[in-house]
Amino acid sequence: MNVLVLNCGSSSAKFAVIDPSLPREHVSGIAQRLGAPEASLDWRIDGSKHSRSIPGAGHDAALREVVALLHDLGLADGLLGVGHRVVHGGAKFSGSIAITPEVIAKIEECIPLGPLHNPPNLLGIRIAQELFPGKLQVGVFDTAFHQTMPPVAFTYPVPYEWKDAYGVRRYGFHGTSHRFVAKQALAQAGLPADDHALVTAHLGNGCSCTAVRNGKSVDTTMGLTPLEGVMMGTRSGSVDPAILAHVAEALGQPEKKILDALNKKSGLLGVSGLSNDMRTVEEAAAGGHERARLAFDIFCYVLAKAIAALVVPLGRLDALVFTGGIGENSATVRATVLGQLGFLGLTVDPDANAVHGRGQQGRITRERRPQALVVPTNEELMIAMDTAEIGQRT
Ligand code: ADP
Repeated sequence: MNVLVLNCGSSSAKFAVIDPSLPREHVSGIAQRLGAPEASLDWRIDGSKHSRSIPGAGHDAALREVVALLHDLGLADGLLGVGHRVVHGGAKFSGSIAITPEVIAKIEECIPLGPLHNPPNLLGIRIAQELFPGKLQVGVFDTAFHQTMPPVAFTYPVPYEWKDAYGVRRYGFHGTSHRFVAKQALAQAGLPADDHALVTAHLGNGCSCTAVRNGKSVDTTMGLTPLEGVMMGTRSGSVDPAILAHVAEALGQPEKKILDALNKKSGLLGVSGLSNDMRTVEEAAAGGHERARLAFDIFCYVLAKAIAALVVPLGRLDALVFTGGIGENSATVRATVLGQLGFLGLTVDPDANAVHGRGQQGRITRERRPQALVVPTNEELMIAMDTAEIGQRT
């Protein structure tokens, strides 16, 4: 029951063939630097890595290479369907859906909300439809999980008419990851499906936290775009929006350029001046680099504040879930954040915290309720599971 999972970005296309019933990932890879002479197709199968140069290949040529590879590996035939990651579904999609011309039209209508992501996502869908004619194609949206937020959580206190006129509201992102780890956490922490209160912290290059009550997102830190919320690798997270006009005027540059700096030159990179990579920042901070220390401290402080704020809509906290590259691997970030959340009744278990991480999931606090735990995310598997479920229904 294999599903091809595709995640097309502006200059890359990630892919995986997964059997969600086992679950088993047969192959995964990425075609990257698309359009450039250095374009390559890199993949991993049975733990070994392979790479092929595909100079100048664009999305179309790269996905044809992927299909040729799947043929070589005997994985192209008998696919149940293709599951696509789509970043912005606006308020139009509250769940994963089989792609039809109407669905494509709606994803196109969301382009103004996701101008960087939706066009390459759509391109991936169009190419996959050509390469696999008649095959089930499913759209899985980063925003869909958060469509259960109530108006009090998704409405910005700005002129009310902006919501309908320009779609100005909180949408939230990383929904596929939050949904996946929340589900896994229930089983791990032994919590009932119909009565639980979780905060999930997805900490990768992009970072967001979500309050999950009984399987539903009730609030989240990202907003209209993935810029809002906690501090990230290169994104500032929430800052005073007046910074835009202030710095634009001071530099004599358009506000768009300053916005670009908030997206690409801020966060860990902006404060440390070194890197957007938490490993580099942690090492430099440990070595006495002052700005790296400050970047690390702000990251943890802002995160702890955001997690505490998300307990408000939940009314209580049963479990705090860490996931994503930083959440799964940085025992230091986890311990620092938990240290600041002691008033919620969380106390880190240093031994458990030290050993838990990617591939080693589990509780990292002394208590069971509330508890903190590490749950490795797997968005590709979630996309494959959704695709298979829709395939079985239709
Ligand atoms: P993406 O959001 O692009 O999927 P990941 O979830 O892989 O990214 O997360 C990338 C982040 O995880 C980077 O900041 C990286 O430094 C961090 N990371 C990975 N391994 C470690 C580690 N051992 N310690 C601290 N941070 C780590």
